[in-house]
Amino acid sequence: MKTIHSLKEMQEYTALQRAEGKTVGLVPTMGALHEGHLSLIHAARKENDRVVVSIFVNPTQFGVNEDFDQYPRDLETDSKLAEKAGADIIFNPEAKDMYPTDISTSIKMGSIAEGLCGRYRPGHFDGVAIVVNKLFNLVNPHRAYFGQKDAQQVQVIRQMVQDLNMEVEIVSCPIIRESDGLAMSSRNIYLSEDERDSARLLNQALEEGRTFIEKGHRDPEELRQLIQKLLQSDPRLQVQYIEIVHPSTLQPLQFLQKPVMIALAVHIGKTRLIDNIIIEE
Ligand code: AMP
Repeated sequence: MKTIHSLKEMQEYTALQRAEGKTVGLVPTMGALHEGHLSLIHAARKENDRVVVSIFVNPTQFGVNEDFDQYPRDLETDSKLAEKAGADIIFNPEAKDMYPTDISTSIKMGSIAEGLCGRYRPGHFDGVAIVVNKLFNLVNPHRAYFGQKDAQQVQVIRQMVQDLNMEVEIVSCPIIRESDGLAMSSRNIYLSEDERDSARLLNQALEEGRTFIEKGHRDPEELRQLIQKLLQSDPRLQVQYIEIVHPSTLQPLQFLQKPVMIALAVHIGKTRLIDNIIIEE
């Protein structure tokens, strides 16, 4: 496995692979790799001749009071994990190369970025869109792999690819969870032991939500209240949002008609966690 820092070298790599008729899969990450990331690498490994894992803590997707400085960074460990999972290339560009001081282009995502996390993280998805756009131009992959854990991110990327006529297939992969149901996240390491214990409730509440829908209830507001009550039963949890939406459009549902996505964001102490579940037709 090789590590590439240079933007030009990255572009040359894929040009060569494409000239030889090879397919390239890209797994964009911010590092601090866990089983969730590795599942994306495995999926990319199965479907492509070459697998590129990008590791870049993208400054433009963090708000001013968010955890950019604190975000865990360990390229050495990540490289070992990525190689074991089947990566051919780690692409680890530098922020000064990705965002030179004279950069002047931005991307403004529309309605797809307005609800859910977008409401509470202004500019976040614009930052995601520009970095993913740049990564697509630099890596020029045939396919790119994203986790359903960040459900709104997947839809934002799909929308951008459609709107800008980009020739890359977007593949979304299921959420990987700890044995007690907590969705894996690089941010879980911020949790104290007690907070980690409380974090189980997120998935439990979503599963209660699934049962509620499977029983045939129709009212999204009743469902929202049920989940809110469950989460509020633990004083360590501060609910930011609970939304009941269509999994593709992310528009709020008037009735609980499948497919239904329940998405939520919760603060536990200083840590913000998100999770979601899709109840399919
Ligand atoms: P991040 O490094 O947090 O930006 O995540 C990189 C990619 O890994 C994104 O597409 C995430 O959605 C995905 N991802 C993160 N956690 C999980 C998980 N628990 N299961 C599946 N995919 C995940």
